[in-house]
Amino acid sequence: MKIVTLFLIVFCFNCCSSGQDSVEKIRKYYTDHTIDNLSSISHGSVSNGSLEHGKLIPYYGSNYSYFDTTSYFSGRAFLHQDVLAFTLKAYKNLENVSNRFYRIMECSNQMGGKLWPHQTHQNGTSIDFMMPLTKDYKPYYNLDEIGLRHYWLSFDDNGKYSEDKSVEIDFEAIAQHILLLNEAANEKGWKIKKVIIKIELKDELYATPSGKKLKAKGIYVVQGLSKMVNALHDDHYHIDFAKV
Ligand SMILES: [Zn+2]
Repeated sequence: MKIVTLFLIVFCFNCCSSGQDSVEKIRKYYTDHTIDNLSSISHGSVSNGSLEHGKLIPYYGSNYSYFDTTSYFSGRAFLHQDVLAFTLKAYKNLENVSNRFYRIMECSNQMGGKLWPHQTHQNGTSIDFMMPLTKDYKPYYNLDEIGLRHYWLSFDDNGKYSEDKSVEIDFEAIAQHILLLNEAANEKGWKIKKVIIKIELKDELYATPSGKKLKAKGIYVVQGLSKMVNALHDDHYHIDFAKV
């Protein structure tokens, strides 16, 4: 059992609100939390930092959505304004190369600091992205709807879902996304500092056409992780961004 399970059970208890109430609530929450026009400032590091004037990611876009209402309403979807801008630009650019729908997971608190149970995500420059999946080689979204419980799904070392081997991680879709994130970040004077993904999944990532480009560009994907951190990064990929 993953270490975050207990936390998630408690946290998810009320996360299944949906329908019109939820849409209205999301709209109001977004409006109430986008009144700060001052420039974002990230302090310190991703593991010991804070954030001033963090900006909230819109819950929905045309080809992406935030993944969990409870997380969103708990103020865990804030980013440095530049990181938000190039993340949205990358989603926009993805529309030209892919028909896939993507999910963004936890970001930072409005003022940064500890985002329990994450070790990082402290200054608005870290994002978790949900692994896109296929079932029988076609895009598959059923597991995208389970909110925070998604963090404890398990995938084997080849990217197959532990409960149904016909469900697999779509590594080409991940690599396409990372390439466009890198491009959009570079245009803003930022770069991908680090991609964290379960080490055993790196060869699958690099084997795809876009994964080969990712490797050729030298975008840093972690080479070693503690056992616990490694096990946690099978359902999502984490990216830290930094100014060039
Ligand atoms: Zn993360």
